[in-house]
Amino acid sequence: MTFSLTPSTSQAMTPNQALTSKVREQVDKDFSQRVATLGKLVRIPGIAWEAFDEADLERSAEAVAELFRSSGVFDEVEIKRAVVDGKPGAPAILASRSAKNGRPHVLLYAHHDVQPPGDDSQWLTPAFEPTAKDGRIYGRGAADDKAGVVAHLTAIETLKAVAGDDFDLGISIFIEGEEEAGSRTFRAFLDENKAKLAADVIVVADSMNWSPEVPALTVSLRGMVSQEFTIRTMEHAVHSGMFGGAIPDAIIPMLKVLASLHDDKGNVAVKGLNTYEFDDLPYTDANLRADSSLLPQVSQIGEGGIMTRIWGKPSITVIGIDVPSVAMSSNTLLPTASAKVSMRIAPGQDPDAALAQLRAHIEENVPFGAVLEFGEIETGKPFMADTSGWAQELAKNSLEAAFGNPMVEIGIGGSIPFIADLTEVFPNAQILVTGVEDADSRAHSPNESVHLIGLKNAMIAEALFLLIGNDLESE
Ligand SMILES: [Zn+2]
Repeated sequence: MTFSLTPSTSQAMTPNQALTSKVREQVDKDFSQRVATLGKLVRIPGIAWEAFDEADLERSAEAVAELFRSSGVFDEVEIKRAVVDGKPGAPAILASRSAKNGRPHVLLYAHHDVQPPGDDSQWLTPAFEPTAKDGRIYGRGAADDKAGVVAHLTAIETLKAVAGDDFDLGISIFIEGEEEAGSRTFRAFLDENKAKLAADVIVVADSMNWSPEVPALTVSLRGMVSQEFTIRTMEHAVHSGMFGGAIPDAIIPMLKVLASLHDDKGNVAVKGLNTYEFDDLPYTDANLRADSSLLPQVSQIGEGGIMTRIWGKPSITVIGIDVPSVAMSSNTLLPTASAKVSMRIAPGQDPDAALAQLRAHIEENVPFGAVLEFGEIETGKPFMADTSGWAQELAKNSLEAAFGNPMVEIGIGGSIPFIADLTEVFPNAQILVTGVEDADSRAHSPNESVHLIGLKNAMIAEALFLLIGNDLESE
């Protein structure tokens, strides 16, 4: 369905000054209370990993559900779990309110579970004690993704405050409880609750802005392919002093295969893989070096702009090799060696096709006729947003009005596997990947934080998006 502006409104697809000011005022007024709400959530260490207390995750879900209940926007706010293989998933919050008068329906997604705190000694402030410092709030989940939860809540309550209780926009809420633990029951949850979740636009608030002042939409995610394989050269191990020099151990062909995966410039040497070109952004070689802790003597690898290399080109990493450790080494020709190769693939690339190219490359590069056996594989689809829809345009305009700067399109070098599930279950929905994080948020790491100006701007942008969406009518 496409939506246009209703004839009754003079508002354009771009938020005007009056509306932007009104929304900013509204968000400003309650902002300290919003930050307090975020702090309350940060104090609940809801972690969906098996080793952690599930009671905390339930408390977290209950606290989030209560926030959406007290917004007074939804008829019912439920805490639900999908069951997969007889095992219930983590508690998720589900709420919806139907669209009226032909207005669009928007699904707002975030997750309330967080990463484990990691090494406590690395935290400068306690992980689950929200701490304000230098314009930021520190704490596990302060950014990823409890700030996303609070941004959605604020946007909805601002819509209600400005447009009145009886607004027409349809809204669904899905706050997942196991994103950081692999979203095991995500697909089942979508399938079971399809009617309540179905929407014209899905806002996934789990990414980042370029900075607290420069907004971004995440338009692509790389996909992933991994392949385990084993190379054999002999029936059993033999003494290197007796046969070394005439018989290849399995390590020689394994290292030759692994070395063949990159050319001399560090480009991926597997043929037939796609590249998606990104425009360069103000991100320098020095930024890359500092952010990645690359040693001063070591050069970068690969050709092309930085953004294209980390978001748009394939990359290959050898993530495991089974060989004896140095401590256990002996003068032996080893008969077998195994490795696991993980490949990030470009947005738009088919994972199965990429896997076939990787396997063909490995097969072609095994020397000496050594025996190759392929083992386990994993694949994850990449994502590329359709940036031609009205929602993308409205989001861009809302972000630019709220932040006061032009928006940039960014990619993510990693994957958010559940995005592929969203596109499969809701093929007609436009997906917007927004965020509250910035480059210094350190999601998943110690000293995670959210910048308060960035958070406020993200809230204003989302409220503007919902307010103008509330005035759109289907054509
Ligand atoms: Zn997240």
